[in-house]
Amino acid sequence: MWGRPSSSNPGAALPDEPAARLHAVRARVDAAARAWGRDPNGVTLIAVSKTHGAEAIRPLLDAGQRDFGENRVAEAAAKWPLLRADFPDARLHMVGALQSNKAAGAAALFNVIHSVDRPSLIAALGAAKRDAGRQPECFLQVNIGDEPQKAGCAPGEIGALLEAARGADLEMAGLMCLPPQDVEPAPYFALLAKLAGEHGLPGLSMGMSGDYETAVSLGATHVRVGTALFGARA
Ligand SMILES: *Cc1c(COP(=O)(O)O)cnc(C)c1O
Repeated sequence: MWGRPSSSNPGAALPDEPAARLHAVRARVDAAARAWGRDPNGVTLIAVSKTHGAEAIRPLLDAGQRDFGENRVAEAAAKWPLLRADFPDARLHMVGALQSNKAAGAAALFNVIHSVDRPSLIAALGAAKRDAGRQPECFLQVNIGDEPQKAGCAPGEIGALLEAARGADLEMAGLMCLPPQDVEPAPYFALLAKLAGEHGLPGLSMGMSGDYETAVSLGATHVRVGTALFGARA
């Protein structure tokens, strides 16, 4: 039913112009959504700009892209204030591991945090919300392939972490995952969608350059695409 991810070679045949790459990726997201009877507006395309400098990011902002992903607080804090001065409606998504002692800084900088995965981080984000009066949208990261080296909670821990989030007055928008590499991702995306449904969570952050169309076919509300938009990272 799903076949191989149709964009399984994300570095190949990229248009040269950043705006053309953006339009090509967005068109594929929209087509995948329509093919599965979904509203394309229900899928947020996050341009993962980690490691890329402002000169690579600006052309996408100029082309209308507003959602961007970073995986380090310090790197985002160095790059984004200047870009945001020119594009105040840019939205920043934290997609990397977050230390609890950086939660307040992350909450001040990011609109969305996709990597909430443990009670200490929930407590730190809850405290940051109490102090600053604002909270980023939060996703619970799930270690969907049960891989020892990967971040994310076990599927069986989701209920307890949602309970902890309620206790900390932190709203959870959905679930996020990074499936195991080099295997068909569809079963993992389907499992994440099932878990989100069981827990009544509307958001699904899943799909990267090699598999975002598959993710959209299985309900992704947020796809995180780096290489297919920016080219390979150094
Ligand atoms: C880097 C990264 C991405 C983007 O990966 P690409 O394969 O370059 O599209 C997506 N999600 C997370 C969590 C990442 O760290």
